[in-house]
Amino acid sequence: MVVSVLVEINIDKVFDYNVPDRFKDSIKMGIRVLVPFGNRTLEGFIIDIKNSSNFDLKDILDIIDKDAILNDELLSLGKEISKNNICNLTSVYQSMLPVGLKASSNRKISIRKNTYIRLINKDIKEFLDTSRSTKQKEIINYLLDNNNALTTMFDNASINALVKKGIIEKYTEEYYRINDNNEIEDLVKLNPYQIDAYNQINNSHKDVILLNGVTGSGKTEIYMHLIKDALDNKKSAILLVPEISLTPQIIARFKKHFNNIAVLHSGLSQGEKYDEYRKILNKEVNIVIGARSAIFAPLNDLGIIIIDEEHSQTYKQDHNPRYNAIDVAILRGKTHNCKVILGSATPMVEDYARAKKGYYELVKLDKRANNASMPIVNIVDMTKETKKGNKIFSEELLLSIEDRLNKQEQIMLLLNKRGYSSYLMCPNCGEVKKCPNCDITLTYHKTSNMNRCHYCGYADNNKEVCSKCNTKLVNMGLGTEKVEEEINKLFPDARVLRMDIDTTNNKGSHQKIIDKFMNHEADILVGTQMISKGLDFPLVTLVGVINADTILNLPDFRSSERTYDLISQVSGRAGRSNLKGKVVIQTYNEDNYAIKLVSSNNYEDFYNEEILIRKKLYYPPYSFIALVKVGGKDFNETLKEANKIGNYLRKNIDKEIILGPSVASLSRINNIYYFEIIIKYRDKDNIIKLLNDVKDLTIGSSKFNVQFDINPISF
Ligand code: ADP
Ligand code: ZN
Repeated sequence: MVVSVLVEINIDKVFDYNVPDRFKDSIKMGIRVLVPFGNRTLEGFIIDIKNSSNFDLKDILDIIDKDAILNDELLSLGKEISKNNICNLTSVYQSMLPVGLKASSNRKISIRKNTYIRLINKDIKEFLDTSRSTKQKEIINYLLDNNNALTTMFDNASINALVKKGIIEKYTEEYYRINDNNEIEDLVKLNPYQIDAYNQINNSHKDVILLNGVTGSGKTEIYMHLIKDALDNKKSAILLVPEISLTPQIIARFKKHFNNIAVLHSGLSQGEKYDEYRKILNKEVNIVIGARSAIFAPLNDLGIIIIDEEHSQTYKQDHNPRYNAIDVAILRGKTHNCKVILGSATPMVEDYARAKKGYYELVKLDKRANNASMPIVNIVDMTKETKKGNKIFSEELLLSIEDRLNKQEQIMLLLNKRGYSSYLMCPNCGEVKKCPNCDITLTYHKTSNMNRCHYCGYADNNKEVCSKCNTKLVNMGLGTEKVEEEINKLFPDARVLRMDIDTTNNKGSHQKIIDKFMNHEADILVGTQMISKGLDFPLVTLVGVINADTILNLPDFRSSERTYDLISQVSGRAGRSNLKGKVVIQTYNEDNYAIKLVSSNNYEDFYNEEILIRKKLYYPPYSFIALVKVGGKDFNETLKEANKIGNYLRKNIDKEIILGPSVASLSRINNIYYFEIIIKYRDKDNIIKLLNDVKDLTIGSSKFNVQFDINPISF
């Protein structure tokens, strides 16, 4: 027997190895084996099994996995993803596995086992009559009533004595770190609008359905009905949600109605992750709920794949392999012949365009489900407020906060920045403190009194004075910490919580803040976009967006879309129950269409404006975008290499647009210079082929690092 093994040595390589007799019965496609390579030992995936070879081959050294981790479907899916995203196949296979199962992870995670005792022979009357050990008799009596017992219940000496006498035996049983088997409740009855949407979904002949429903319109309830239908047909289901909204709140909601769910997210320990994954491998679950990589869950017979908040950037992996879970979902949907549901209140403009063109089915839900009305949205022009001396909070927001505090209702304040202030600037010469490695403005953190680079982690002490002219530096911009501080000053009696990356570092801290706020142990929650998604606090009646322009000013063609998404998501947090909600949006760009239209809560109007700009500038959905990033230590040499690639592309493409190479938006990270080439194209197949050629031509280089990003989600 001979196997082809895929190993990674910078690039994908496949080598054949001989299988010694002792391993023959354990060989399966997709499992990992240890193989000799030169004088090294490498891990690799079995991707082919053959009878024999004409060559004299080396033997495989060992087998790592008992079960096939990557089944046939995932093996071929991986090839497709690697081709489409111009990345190594091994890196895709690695992404498909949870951390504990990764080929490169040397930390082995254990399977947890309990040890039990049970009677071998129930005919023990004689022993009970004659034995003088009360302890041993106690064990036996217990086992006569209970079949088995954990060994920890009794002392070891007595147990061992009984084992020796051949009366009882020990045995072990595996258990999972997370175990729940609840009484489950029936699903809620859908309202007429939901039934309409549900029927449209079921009657559609399209592979992909875009469910565009305002926040609180009851999309999640529809998901549950669709999943139940899949299970009733003996099929399985995957539900993807953004990592950040994968809170116990949503998990509990599903566990109330379903057993046999595996949950995959980064909040789990490696052991828990491993166990959740084993539940899938052991076919003990038929629903998987998870973040991006859960799309690779090795479920058979998928009946439905649902992607909630489909516009979320987190579905695209921002490092290699740069796959998008939605593309993967659509590929898997085809394989399993099952529907893919994309749900969102504010879909990706590209996806909405596809739905309007009829490539996807468009299903709408315009009404909130529990009779809650949409919140009132007020836009405040901060240029006027600044003239009145109101720098952080407008009059309107302050009055509204006071009003809600008096009524004992809750308030959420969103600011899409972290830290005390975004940066320090010299008021005299305009000098800004930047990272020496990355050319990125440093963020000042008050708690640690440090300036930090958010890209490479560089930190220094705050010097307080300008290095050029010695003038005292001033805080520019505004962070969540500063907002919290100001609120505490203005409303000393209010109880304030803050949620951002800095307060949610530890496992479980994110949830603690949510629980506290949910239990009304705080009146005001200040936070970054972390607070904008998926949370449902019935007492929140006021949402304030402190500075709506932070995203609008990003150098990215999706900045308007992002602004619209974020504001409407966070607005959706206001007035989810029967209390009327209000949203106050503070901005210096009052006339911007994204900000104007978000207040009328009409996605369609926003889309109609946005699509005109996309068309004019030949942005997606009118083109696809690919990014080629060339990195190297020497500025001039790297630029030369980037030019070489640019020229090669230009020579082989006629109609498509190629921009650059230009200095990347993050031009220097850890002392590596980056140049970017942006391609706007329509002919997908040709570009993918061409870029794969570029990859093959450049991959051997130790001097330059060439990366590809197909349909990048941020710049
Ligand atoms: P979405 O996912 O669109 O934001 P949800 O499914 O979370 O909306 O629904 C919003 C609220 O309305 C939730 O509290 C949910 O339990 C409730 N709800 C949704 N559908 C119904 C229904 N048919 N009957 C009663 N309550 C419902
Ligand atoms: Zn840095």
